[in-house]
Amino acid sequence: MTVIYDKVAVIGMGLIGASIALATRRAGLAKTIFGSDQSPEVAAVAARLQLVDSFEADAVHAVADADLVILAVPVGAVGEIAEQIVPHMKSGAVLTDTGSTKRSVVHDVGPHLRDDIIWLPSHPLAGTEHSGPGAGFESLFDERYWVILPLDADEADIVRFESFITGLGSVTERMSADYHDKVLALTSHLPHLIAYTIVGTAVDLETQLKNDVIRFSASGFRDFTRIAASDPVMWRDVFLNNDTAVLEMLQRFSEDLSYLQRAIRWQEGDKLEELFSRTREIRRSIIDAGQD
Ligand code: NAP
Repeated sequence: MTVIYDKVAVIGMGLIGASIALATRRAGLAKTIFGSDQSPEVAAVAARLQLVDSFEADAVHAVADADLVILAVPVGAVGEIAEQIVPHMKSGAVLTDTGSTKRSVVHDVGPHLRDDIIWLPSHPLAGTEHSGPGAGFESLFDERYWVILPLDADEADIVRFESFITGLGSVTERMSADYHDKVLALTSHLPHLIAYTIVGTAVDLETQLKNDVIRFSASGFRDFTRIAASDPVMWRDVFLNNDTAVLEMLQRFSEDLSYLQRAIRWQEGDKLEELFSRTREIRRSIIDAGQD
């Protein structure tokens, strides 16, 4: 593989940051990889697992002379970190993020940008319910989509960045912030909200019933518990920062749920069967698209 950026700096060495560092090294996309994180525990794990060539406790030191800076922190922290590091970035460097919401990130980073920095917000559509540096692995992004917001960057700079992302194993897709937030509200944020709700309902059950729910979880509940085990801080920030799109999708979901509720009450089996057949087709098209 060819080196695309001489120095890459990853700020936030959790699941996503660690996986980016490992995938960058696997493909030889950078000469040096610097990492930074606010947490001393993360620093220790990153050193033990040799995730990066050099670790800096202060993000400002990690980004000095970097050709590509990647913010892989919860979306609520992106603006504040941009404010700290952008004045110390080298002219012509690329700045990106991995945040699960895009309108808020564009809004929060905007005031801190410089004209000579290439700002390309992005979002890898890949993840697990695990968090922290030890959860990272080099193949996380293989064959997964990675959304890029071109904004007003030059085509040559976008193409170069896309070749880096492709080198990590991903398939790139360009989108606007608004469209991204709508699609992700339905495909990712709403499913997480539903999982958090169902598992939360189980938590409130009386002891005997709760124990049996856990014992017999293989019948469907288990899949929700996996999603509901996702990082609380990351997901708090997602809902607070994509509130408009999530509330809109939640409204539609509530209406569809009422439709099902009514069909069950009135024993309308044809309505249930018709919907379940259509949803089964969706599952088949996801498998056909290689995204299962
Ligand atoms: P994570 O495992 O929780 O890691 C985030 C890391 O950033 C933590 O080590 C955290 O340190 C650190 N951090 C937080 N605030 C910081 C700050 N101000 N300065 C420096 N470091 C800071 O989270 P993740 O799953 O990697 O997610 C990172 C980003 O990618 C998020 O924006 C998320 O929306 C996005 N994303 C996540 C997934 C997923 O499935 N997990 C998928 C795609 C995109 P502390 O632990 O000390 O707070």
